[in-house]
Amino acid sequence: MRRKLTSGHAFVALGANLPLDTPNPEDTLRSAMAAMIPLSQQLPVLSGIYESEPKDCPPGSPLYLNAVVGILPRADEDPLTLLHKLQAIELRFGRTRSGVINESRTLDLDLLAFGDKEMDTPELTLPHPRAHQRRFVLQPWLEIAGNEWLLKGRTLGDWLLECQDPPLSRLQEW
Ligand code: ADP
Ligand code: MG
Repeated sequence: MRRKLTSGHAFVALGANLPLDTPNPEDTLRSAMAAMIPLSQQLPVLSGIYESEPKDCPPGSPLYLNAVVGILPRADEDPLTLLHKLQAIELRFGRTRSGVINESRTLDLDLLAFGDKEMDTPELTLPHPRAHQRRFVLQPWLEIAGNEWLLKGRTLGDWLLECQDPPLSRLQEW
């Protein structure tokens, strides 16, 4: 049963393509999902985990695993406080940054949307500026939010129809 989403929900995209404590980044994604429970007033809504070809990444980058999580932020949370908590989780899961664009990572947590808030600052752009162009975001997001959620005025399904990225495989149910 899909839990009811509200206009107050926030969505986070998870990505990982480097091992951390185990050889399989899937373990990192599952642990990161658990780490997001305290950020939500309700149990988070989880997509499946998808495998994607690296997009716009340095040559030789390993395959990515991706998922999307829906949370209901606490009343005292705002987009920036939530982003900072997500960045703290990234650090706990071994994230390092050398400055190379789209470099491989143990864990990436991008804030896709925070309710219907819109902002455009160097630190945070909402909705996420590239979400609508990425199958590895749209497909898991559609899985949990359906076509009720509008991104830049269009349904996630409409964006997916336009997306040129190759098909993704969804890992087995868990
Ligand atoms: P990327 O996710 O693009 O591969 P990073 O995770 O290193 O790269 O993020 C780069 C910067 O993007 C961060 O310093 C962050 O402040 C900024 N940023 C802007 N908008 C967002 C957003 N919606 N979600 C996450 N980070 C964002
Ligand atoms: Mg990021």
